[in-house]
Amino acid sequence: MTTLAGIVPINELPIDQKRVFIRVDFNVPLEEQSGKQVITDDARIREALPTIKHAMDRGARVILASHLGRPKKGPDPKLSLEPCAARLADLLGVEVHLPEDSVGDAAKKVVFDLRAGQVCLLENLRFHAEEEKNDESFAAQLAALCDVYVDDAFGAVHRAHASVHALPKLVSERGCGFLLEKEIKALGKIVSNPDKPFVAVLGGAKVSDKIAVIESLLEKVDAIVIGGAMANTFLAAKGIAMKSSKVENEKTALARTILEKAQEKKVTIALPVDVVVAQSIEAKEGKVVDVGSIPDNHMALDVGPKSLAEFQKWFDKAKSVFWNGPMGLFEKTPFSKGTFGVARALANSKAFTVIGGGDSAAAVKEAGSDVAKKFSHISTGGGASLELIEGKKLPGIEVLRR
Ligand code: ADP
Ligand code: MG
Repeated sequence: MTTLAGIVPINELPIDQKRVFIRVDFNVPLEEQSGKQVITDDARIREALPTIKHAMDRGARVILASHLGRPKKGPDPKLSLEPCAARLADLLGVEVHLPEDSVGDAAKKVVFDLRAGQVCLLENLRFHAEEEKNDESFAAQLAALCDVYVDDAFGAVHRAHASVHALPKLVSERGCGFLLEKEIKALGKIVSNPDKPFVAVLGGAKVSDKIAVIESLLEKVDAIVIGGAMANTFLAAKGIAMKSSKVENEKTALARTILEKAQEKKVTIALPVDVVVAQSIEAKEGKVVDVGSIPDNHMALDVGPKSLAEFQKWFDKAKSVFWNGPMGLFEKTPFSKGTFGVARALANSKAFTVIGGGDSAAAVKEAGSDVAKKFSHISTGGGASLELIEGKKLPGIEVLRR
């Protein structure tokens, strides 16, 4: 069961006037522009605002901390959280102090000077290798900075790292922020007691990435709609000539086993009946063909209109839908119709609709802001959301239970 049992939400924690450590996920995409690191998407910073503002309004001394990228050894100026501090300051309209290190004298000086309602952002936690090693003495140094621990970094809860696992063990007043609360509620509903019919929509690059997810979903769903390159491997397993399409040949046996299991469990697996093909991923346009008639030297890069119509029948029946994985190479306009079509169909369905997966969330946002906002929940954690769906217990969530 994935629930909030035993986890205290921030609004019930004694944070007034206290030093409150909030683990956020400011692992934003950066791009170097004329020698400067520029944030290309600040969604992760915006998602953390309700929790940060709540803590400020209650007069907490707010200590924010995050990782950013994968620094190789020690501090790397290109992976400084400085751009995030600047963006956060703009969004909040207050100064955000940024000590040059997450622990030690620099951090202490800034943290102990904070007045009620003020905010600081510690420097990139991964500048210390101890963070990823879940090191207890590093965690103890972080614990010395705060009275209360709040986790709002859903994107990091599947990793047993110091700031999400060893640290909260040391702080008795601990709980979750609003974003983490929302994630656990929505994904928990899908994992634990989805309203039926429950339909999963899977796609994306590979079957091999998602085997555990498929096997876990087979126990719960009424149907699995499959598109994307994942569908190619299933179609190949059924003996269809996929020609130049991306197929995982070493996974076709597994795909056959999954199809057999589904039949035993009376779970429908809906595969594409037509696809959009081209000779290269650089093609300016694609051609719609039935799956049985893919021409030589062509590859399937999207699902076709007949497939969408078939999938729609399941979306009309569904009361819950979990979607992971684009229906095609949606980054290229000629191959985006299937993914955007599913996005629009699900946005307009009455079902409880949840999306997990980094590329899938990006695809839905690209389909339009009016589309994205009609989903019940778009998870901010790719890896973490899939691990929850697999039925795993995540270290950063379990440690919060009291
Ligand atoms: P997520 O991040 O949502 O879990 P994945 O990483 O599994 O999704 O897959 C996303 C990638 O799969 C996208 O970059 C998309 O272009 C690619 N993809 C989907 N369908 C195809 C296809 N038919 N051929 C090639 N690439 C595909
Ligand atoms: Mg991905």
